[in-house]
Amino acid sequence: MNLWDPKTVRQVMTMFGLNFRREFGQNFLTDPEVIDAIADACHPEADCTVLEIGPGIGTLTRSLAARYRQVIALEIDRSLIPVLRYTLEDCPNVTVVNEDVMQTDLAALLEDAFRAGPVAVCANLPYYITTPILMKLLESRLPFAGITVMVQAEVADRLCAGAGEKAYGAITVALNYYGSAQEILFVPADRFVPAPKVNSKVTKITLWREKPFVPKDEEMLFRTVRAAFGQRRKTLANALAAGFPELGKERITQILAGMELPPDIRGERLDIGRFTELSDRLLQACGETEQEDRE
Ligand code: SAM
Repeated sequence: MNLWDPKTVRQVMTMFGLNFRREFGQNFLTDPEVIDAIADACHPEADCTVLEIGPGIGTLTRSLAARYRQVIALEIDRSLIPVLRYTLEDCPNVTVVNEDVMQTDLAALLEDAFRAGPVAVCANLPYYITTPILMKLLESRLPFAGITVMVQAEVADRLCAGAGEKAYGAITVALNYYGSAQEILFVPADRFVPAPKVNSKVTKITLWREKPFVPKDEEMLFRTVRAAFGQRRKTLANALAAGFPELGKERITQILAGMELPPDIRGERLDIGRFTELSDRLLQACGETEQEDRE
């Protein structure tokens, strides 16, 4: 069954009386070369479990099932479950779970799989919820052996950007805390049915085995990053002054000077290492301010 053929995709949907559901970001892949490239990029070894998020009608799932020991596919749309039963009938190593990935206890779902060997994530992600899904995967702290995802091209650029580049932002720094991203493939919008309004890119995230930078307080690191990018056109000093009103501009300027950062520097010039250092200094300053207020 050539599920990647646009005609077949429409036929299968019609056969089950279904429409493509925009609220679930249903744009199904129709390019066999792209499908194979994503599946190949997922993991170097066949003895691996793949968690697929959003199998749709099972196009990428079949390709993953042919390459890897086991596939666990999470699909939110209940109406696609009978379709998947039909299209994956000859794939005994696939388990389809009808759940919203945002509600799923991933550690519990994948407990046996992690015990058995490496677990990688692979997905043509629904665009309406890309960042929350990525953050959930990263914050789960599960030791995924790679996260290969198709995302909107601009999001991929953000994930892969280096400090100082135009696309560099809060999501880049957050990602770099957990790992790094590499662009694999550009995929034009016409390779999907229905075609989305934007182009896509396949990106592979590799998690650090050991984080190269560990802040004293993780919450403070993320608060610092949010503040730095919350006011993008402002200098870092002004953005932090708005995000840390309890410290005041003068204290913040002193902290930046202590790090030998120019007073007019913007947040997008700092890499994860410098953000970690900055957040440790802000943590200390907040502690001192609290102490002063108590005295
Ligand atoms: N993998 C298929 C492909 O490449 O052709 C479909 C990809 S389509 C872009 C996204 C899929 O994710 C849809 O099947 C959609 O129903 C599913 N989905 C959307 N939100 C989801 C969620 N929160 N949890 C699990 N699946 C979700």
